[in-house]
Amino acid sequence: MKLTQLDDWLKLRADVNLPSGMWINGGSAAAEGGATSPLVSPRDGEILTHLPAASAHDVAEAVRSARAAFDSGVWSRISPRERGEVLIRWADLIEQHRDEMALLISLEMGKPVSVAWNVELKTTIGLIRWYGELADKLMDESPRGKADALALVTREPMGVVAAITPWNFPMTLSTFKMPAALVAGNTVVLKPASQSPLSVLRAAELATEAGLPDGVLQVVTGSGPITGAALATDDNVATLTFTGSTDVGKQLLHYSADSNAKPVWLELGGKSPNIIFPDAPDMAEAISTAGWAIAFNSGQMCTAGSRLLVHRSIHDEVVAGVTEYLSALKIGDPLDPDTNFGPLASRRHRDEVLTEISKGKQTSAELVLGSDRPLDRAGWFVEPAIFTGVQADDRLAQHEIFGPVVSVLAFDDEDDAIAIANNSDYGLGSAVWTADLSRAARVSRRLDAGLVWVNCFEEGDYSVPFGGRKLSGHGGDKSVHGLEKFTSTKTTWMAI
Ligand code: NAP
Repeated sequence: MKLTQLDDWLKLRADVNLPSGMWINGGSAAAEGGATSPLVSPRDGEILTHLPAASAHDVAEAVRSARAAFDSGVWSRISPRERGEVLIRWADLIEQHRDEMALLISLEMGKPVSVAWNVELKTTIGLIRWYGELADKLMDESPRGKADALALVTREPMGVVAAITPWNFPMTLSTFKMPAALVAGNTVVLKPASQSPLSVLRAAELATEAGLPDGVLQVVTGSGPITGAALATDDNVATLTFTGSTDVGKQLLHYSADSNAKPVWLELGGKSPNIIFPDAPDMAEAISTAGWAIAFNSGQMCTAGSRLLVHRSIHDEVVAGVTEYLSALKIGDPLDPDTNFGPLASRRHRDEVLTEISKGKQTSAELVLGSDRPLDRAGWFVEPAIFTGVQADDRLAQHEIFGPVVSVLAFDDEDDAIAIANNSDYGLGSAVWTADLSRAARVSRRLDAGLVWVNCFEEGDYSVPFGGRKLSGHGGDKSVHGLEKFTSTKTTWMAI
């Protein structure tokens, strides 16, 4: 990262024009009647800009154009390699505009700019490039069932893919959807969260610059209940992919049933257990990672290590170490490159997190770090919080707070740890720290989660799927498996 001072970023802020329209048919577009909504920065409460509030009619038009672009074959029927080349150019352009993109992410959702630059955009650029490079390396099948026939099982694009995404990783989580859907030959209509449309709008503009034909990637802005619902109920949408809360995910299944029964793919909430055994290979690393797992992105992570399961014999040592880690965070202006702990994404979300801390204080659990009062500074800040003495059925251990609040639960043995870990409606991330290979394998097998990290947390790569089970959803993103939901198999049986 070349901009190393707050002043550098403030200067860039002054120079950059913020997106102010939707991205439709390769250009900026207003909503019907010029309707807009203000966009407020969690950094300081400043109104950054006003963005179109798309009506159901606007959404239907965006989907109709995306369908026309699909039917024209300008994207769906060109060679996979040509599609891949456009994606690789797109990744290159995002990389060239990395400072500006990091600034937009930081302004819209309060992420420390260094994290936006180093983490979020690294994944975004890498994943688009990865799918671009994969484009011409995929194979169809020709099963050898019968001598007098030639059978082909091909995977074909589905048409218009609708994607609805949350605000916590506005670029990464949109990139979990867009390049996979595009490389398969679909067209895409994306609705980003109302809180964080700027980076995705700029990325869509760069996609057009990279050579993506008009109408192939449409970005509509507006509220979930109006714009998002219109997209989810549109009969011209062939498949719907969503990342967000479990409540909205369930609602989308109703929308599908009430419209064209489109497949709905859900990446939802989590309450990830992070289990530390006394034989962790490096206890200092296990402890600092446990702190990171709840502090990163200010705890606004579906995979946040919000349930810290600690063997009773090391409980006090771990709590002291995590307290030390969280107390040393540099809380501050997200545009300051030294900041590693920013505000929560909105005032409403901050208040919800503080309410959960208040409720926790009324239980038998003990708040050993943090407060249920906001920090006295500009922006929607909540101090990192630790509760000890949490019981497996407590709200503190069951409810996804989606903020920097960790619940510590003590366990006695392996069976006890697994029982506590699996005592959740969610099944997204999980981690186990142990030097015993057999124990690592046993516990990993028994954890009811889509992701298990052994002696690490939140690690992965473009080549492995990311997703959950139970109320955390289904149908992982990333990897070759991430393509499956964006293609439909066709069997062609040719008599010879
Ligand atoms: P959210 O409230 O569910 O919103 C997600 C998206 O859905 C936003 O674009 C939202 O629009 C839209 N939406 C809201 N109501 C809708 C409706 N009735 N119809 C259609 N769309 C609707 O979630 P969030 O608060 O942005 O994000 C936090 C949640 O996401 C947490 O539960 C977190 O665990 C989950 N998450 C999961 C993953 C994963 O991969 N499993 C990753 C990140 C986050 P508006 O912004 O306009 O409301």
